Amino acid sequence: MHQRKPTHYSSRFMARVKPQCGCPDEHTLLLCASGSHGRIVHNAQKSRVATRRMAGTMWETIGHEWAVAYLQKTIETNRIAHTTLFTGPAKIGKTHLALRFAAALHCHSDGQRPCGRCRSCLETLAGAHADLLMIEPDKGRVKIDQVRRIQHELALRPYNSPWRVCVVSGFETTTTEAANALLKTLEEPPAHAILLLTALDPGLLLPTIVSRCRMLSMRPVATHTIAEALIERYQIDPKRATEIAQLSAGRVGWAIRACEDPSMLEQRDTDVQTLLELVDKGPAARLRVAEELAKRDDVHPAVFEWQLVWRDIMLLAAGCDDRLVVNQRQLPRLRRLAETTGLEPARAAAASAQDVVRQISQNVNARLALETMLLSWQNR
Ligand SMILES: [Zn+2]
Repeated sequence: MHQRKPTHYSSRFMARVKPQCGCPDEHTLLLCASGSHGRIVHNAQKSRVATRRMAGTMWETIGHEWAVAYLQKTIETNRIAHTTLFTGPAKIGKTHLALRFAAALHCHSDGQRPCGRCRSCLETLAGAHADLLMIEPDKGRVKIDQVRRIQHELALRPYNSPWRVCVVSGFETTTTEAANALLKTLEEPPAHAILLLTALDPGLLLPTIVSRCRMLSMRPVATHTIAEALIERYQIDPKRATEIAQLSAGRVGWAIRACEDPSMLEQRDTDVQTLLELVDKGPAARLRVAEELAKRDDVHPAVFEWQLVWRDIMLLAAGCDDRLVVNQRQLPRLRRLAETTGLEPARAAAASAQDVVRQISQNVNARLALETMLLSWQNR
């Protein structure tokens, strides 16, 4: 088989599949990180291709070294918390790290864990381990039925590991009813139960939940660290890698997906342009944009990009170095806006965008939240 660049494929997206070619070897489906394309390989090839990158850095993280060191230490010293809360901006790598930690807990290697090679590691990283449950918001919310499933699954004895692990993504979207239902599990977890929760911000969760979790606050990763990883691991052209790393604002997952899906960058450019045009327009145009944006599935990313634009304007108004600006291509326009807007209004606009990002994750009426935000922005 022709050897394509292995780094196009991520071991995060491996799954065993039935052989199609009639040969007796086990086969593995490798998917690209966006999940849009993949290929089936013999496991012998898979071990050369997909696990090559695992050899040096089993956790496969970009940045977040302190968090990896911390989690490794908890395993080595057998001080594993029943519940860990990974917090940080969307696409920063929270679920990635939680899944690697789950693999480390399930790994059968006598050496470094996760080894990335044993059956337990491969099954965990494919989300297919018998002692792993992955939960994501259902239609934007983690609901009580899902919490009941978590409780049921965690109560069962592990099949092939000392632990039963549940990874819950987007825990800030949990309904109050569901969060309260989970409290009992957090207070008296079964001895073998590990709950790994991810959330944008601990402030979006019930304090009674947060106080029962071990916290891992993940911060944006340095631009140069992301750029170097895109060049070395993904063979991205250095100029493009640097630009994407800058636009990612420290969100590793966003940067990787942007490399594989150019439409993400196009949509981002359109959203930024919409904002830059909107600041000169009146209430009618703003309400129209709010109505159109509220219909989209990706409201959250769009508003986050707006927050970054206002952050850029705020930094320029405060006289900070141009190199801190995320939207370098719009630098001249942003400089003019910084002069006409001033520091405090730019800060208030960035804060209003941050509020909307939080409100949307809490299932607030998106159109109403967007209208309020857009009308609060002064004309320039
Ligand atoms: Zn392993």
